[in-house]
Formats: sequence, C-alpha cells, structure tokens
Amino acid sequence: MDYDKLKEHYDNVIKKSKEFDSTKPVNDLNLLFPDFLDKLILCFGKYNEKYPSHDVYIVETYRSNNLQSEYYKSGKSKIRKNGMHHFGIAADIAFYIDGEFSYKGNYDYLRKIFTDEGLTVLNWELGHVQFIEVKDQETLRKSVLN
Ligand SMILES: [Zn+2]
Repeated sequence: MDYDKLKEHYDNVIKKSKEFDSTKPVNDLNLLFPDFLDKLILCFGKYNEKYPSHDVYIVETYRSNNLQSEYYKSGKSKIRKNGMHHFGIAADIAFYIDGEFSYKGNYDYLRKIFTDEGLTVLNWELGHVQFIEVKDQETLRKSVLN
C-alpha cells in the first residue's frame, strides 16, 4: 500500500469534494482511490463472466465522518469515525438483477474473487470490500491524517 499516494488522493480529491461533510450516503466513484477502483472493476468483470445478467452496483463509496457517526449511533457500524470508506478505499456492494435493485447476487462468489485479487472482506458485513487488511487500518489513519 502506497500511503503517500493515498494521502495525495485524500488531500486533493476527498477533502476538496463537496461531499466531504455529506450526511447522505455517497456513491461517487471518483472519490474511490483509483488503484482500488481499478481492482473493483477487474473483479466485477470476472463476476460477470459467470453471471452476465447481474449488474454489480456500488451502494456507498466515500463516507463522511458525520454519516459514520450516525451509523455508529444507530448500530449500523462499529466504527465511530475514520472508517475505510472515509479514505475512499472501501465500497458496499449490491446488485441490479433484471433491472431491479437486489441483494440476491452471489456474494460468496464475488467475495472469493475479491480475496483472490488481494482485497479484504469482513465476516460481519457481507457487502463490504476494502483495499487493505484490518490490521493495517491504524497505520493508514496515522499516515494519511498527519
Ligand atoms: Zn462498508
């Protein structure tokens, strides 16, 4: 993980975005760290080889600390602030199947593709995928927020 490159993305793209303090969910792909987005697109392509009629859909990309705090209070997330979404290196996945929003895609298969490609999935959040391992999160926060 290139922390300098991520810090550059955080300082120059995320912090300057109008969504920085958004209290609504954001799914702007431009706020994702480009290396992460490239990897996601590769994984979605592999998934579509087996399930061509499922559109993999990213429900949430970047998340402000305002919204993270609301999720924490409501029990939707275990993280109070500076979760991986805040740095543009996490995404929450759903699907469009037969033109309808759905959670009925093959998550097991997609998650296997993610991990085969070196991404990290969480046991406690089916649709979540992130760029780094949980054990590296604190180092990342210190590197980017200094
Ligand atoms: Zn998530």
